[in-house]
Amino acid sequence: MLVLGDQLWRGNPALDGFDAAQDRILMLEAPGEATHVWSHQARIAIFLSAMRHFRDALVAEGLPVAYVDLDAPGQPDGFGERLALALRTHRPHALVACEPGEWRTLALLQDACAAAEVPLQLRADSHFLCTRDEFAAWAGDKRELRMEFFYRTMRRRHGVLMDGDEPAGGQWNYDVENRRGYPRQGPGLIPPPLRFAPDAVTQEVIALVRARFGAHPGSLEHFGWPVTRAQALDALYEFVDQRLAAFGPYQDAMWTGTPWGWHALLSSSLNLHLITPAEVVAAAEAAWRERQLPLASVEGFIRQVLGWREFIRGVYWLDMPRLGQANHFGFSRDLPRWYWTGETRMNCMREAIGQTLAHGFAHHIQRLMVTGQFGILAQLSPQQVCDWYLAVYVDAVEWVELPNTAGMALFANGGRFTSKPYVSSGQYIDRMSNYCSGCAYDPKQRTGPQACPYTTLFWNFVDGQERAFLRNPRTAMMARNLQRLGDAERAAIRAEAQRMLSDLDAL
Ligand SMILES: Cc1cc2nc3c(=O)[nH]c(=O)nc-3n(C[C@H](O)[C@H](O)[C@H](O)COP(=O)(O)OP(=O)(O)OC[C@H]3O[C@@H](n4cnc5c(N)ncnc54)[C@H](O)[C@@H]3O)c2cc1C
Ligand code: SF4
Repeated sequence: MLVLGDQLWRGNPALDGFDAAQDRILMLEAPGEATHVWSHQARIAIFLSAMRHFRDALVAEGLPVAYVDLDAPGQPDGFGERLALALRTHRPHALVACEPGEWRTLALLQDACAAAEVPLQLRADSHFLCTRDEFAAWAGDKRELRMEFFYRTMRRRHGVLMDGDEPAGGQWNYDVENRRGYPRQGPGLIPPPLRFAPDAVTQEVIALVRARFGAHPGSLEHFGWPVTRAQALDALYEFVDQRLAAFGPYQDAMWTGTPWGWHALLSSSLNLHLITPAEVVAAAEAAWRERQLPLASVEGFIRQVLGWREFIRGVYWLDMPRLGQANHFGFSRDLPRWYWTGETRMNCMREAIGQTLAHGFAHHIQRLMVTGQFGILAQLSPQQVCDWYLAVYVDAVEWVELPNTAGMALFANGGRFTSKPYVSSGQYIDRMSNYCSGCAYDPKQRTGPQACPYTTLFWNFVDGQERAFLRNPRTAMMARNLQRLGDAERAAIRAEAQRMLSDLDAL
């Protein structure tokens, strides 16, 4: 029975009916998983540490675990090769596994089993609240998928925030109440999230990662992520107690030196399957029903977990493998070097990348409207941008990273689940943060030495997409605003944009 590195929970269906008299649990660490994309050191460490803790828990239960360490002698680097070797060594009657989260891993399992002539038995991943088949049935042959309708189906199906047949409070969605920036004087005191001092297992992993992957991006200095179920549950209850109430209004807000804001920081725990979405949603709903936390915050949070997370997984499995190659606009520019260092004069980018390198974390709007939006405006290769996202976040696994990056941030899939590209001038970032006040650029300027790259490249993007934007009621206003600028200004914007695009590394 194979336990994959992102399926670390006792309810893993691969372990159903486990019979210690004849079954063995197999877990594989593989260096190739750290280098497949140039992974942040904290991302490597969180996977290895959580796997080792889970192994120790299984062993403490008396279960037989064949565990292949990263540096086990005589082992190939790649996960697929390690699995093939294990199958040749153990010669099982069958390999039982929970269906993998990633397309690539599924192919590796199928190939290794076929080559070793070992039957592969895959069991549906019961961590999720919507199965792949249920999602496919909901999607039918719709060309465009909308999360909001899926989310309502999920609310009804699972009876979440429902009063009878009606949504609690009379509305399905309180998003309009959830878009505030911080007050002008700053975010004030935000209760900091629970962080966990590395125990002996994690310290050993940190030393290993430093020795083996020390040249990889990111720091391990501040590593404090949950790596066990008990820690993940503590983090969940601490969030619900301390930050959920204000999560809603400030979920889009950004501020210098404020890496966590009011966010949950639960994505890595969920994606490792240390906790389930069902228990996360139940804890949030209970806080509203029993402790009267504001409905707008609770609904806004539940929408992310019950709605977006399940929806994104469904889209991934419907649209793979073509999603991996999607490139609606045909963009091919290389990722600027500063994505790996944060050394740029753009303050918003310095902040978002800086905290990404320090912690392996940035929150949704930083990923969407700072690092992601730049990708589309600067016409970067979607595949290079996606590889970066897969590498640098502690919660990055392809089934959730790819649809968010290629689909939501880059519109590389042509709007399969978004009605328009997420683009705006630097004035959006100025409104939602204090970043612009410490920047070499000015968000209001489209041209000239202080022109903000977001602003110039935004108008240049609208210029290039003018006809498509005019056809879409949700973007037509942007195109009409561009037309008001006049020919001379438009020519100046194009020239300024070309200057920026020709040397993105210099921004
Ligand atoms: C370009 C881009 C790349 C992303 N890559 C990843 C990724 O690799 N892994 C990942 O887990 N999330 C990814 N996200 C979604 C989101 O940014 C993170 O889930 C969130 O920032 C994690 O922080 P948090 O736990 O504090 O979440 P909160 O903001 O507090 O939200 C609560 C939970 O909702 C879920 N959630 C929220 N938004 C999304 C979303 N859009 N898709 C799926 N689940 C969501 C997460 O599980 C999260 O823990 C990405 C978003 C963008 C725009
Ligand atoms: S001026 Fe432009 S580049 Fe600078 S922080 Fe603001 S949005 Fe970012």
